[in-house]
Amino acid sequence: MAISIDTQKLVDLPALESALAVASARHNHLCPRQVLGARCAIAASAALELAVPRIDKRLLVIVETDGCFVDGVEAVTGVSVGGRTLRVEDYGKIAATFVDVKTERALRVAPQIDVRTRARDYAPEQSQRYFAMLHGYQRMPDDELLSFEWVTLSTPVAAIISRASARAICDECGEEIINEREVQEDARTLCRTCAGNQYYTAEKLQQGVRL
Ligand SMILES: [Zn+2]
Ligand SMILES: [Zn+2]
Repeated sequence: MAISIDTQKLVDLPALESALAVASARHNHLCPRQVLGARCAIAASAALELAVPRIDKRLLVIVETDGCFVDGVEAVTGVSVGGRTLRVEDYGKIAATFVDVKTERALRVAPQIDVRTRARDYAPEQSQRYFAMLHGYQRMPDDELLSFEWVTLSTPVAAIISRASARAICDECGEEIINEREVQEDARTLCRTCAGNQYYTAEKLQQGVRL
């Protein structure tokens, strides 16, 4: 689907500046990735026609990395892991998908492939690459800085969000599982760990060693 982003529109400077103030304050520095996060979020919110920052849960953001980029996204949108409006799918990529939970429209935004080189054209006064990115990313128009793609989520929004009141008990370890993250195996209800998808290996406690 064609993306209708107004390429003539200049960078939304007030929104960008206030977001960068928030992001850099919690981060103790301002870096190019925070700028990219803020720019992605401002452009995506505009394309989805959602006012930001939000205090409701209508905007869901799936970021493809952790780190500074996410601070920029959070500062613009108000989404958070605690609010269950931000999810990290760690693919190690500077990209994010912005989802209007009500309409299920989802827009993936990432920097253009050659954005580091192009940034120099917008910050000719900066001789160092890092600072050319830091300042160039703040000045480049959306269509030169970012690429946009409407996408369909592999997991429906309702399943991602799930029912907050859902509770199950793992038949193996007995721990409680919330948000419908349990797995059914034959007639058993299991947590993902007991179903074999653990991210850790338990160490055997040695006799006489106290935790
Ligand atoms: Zn940083
Ligand atoms: Zn279990």
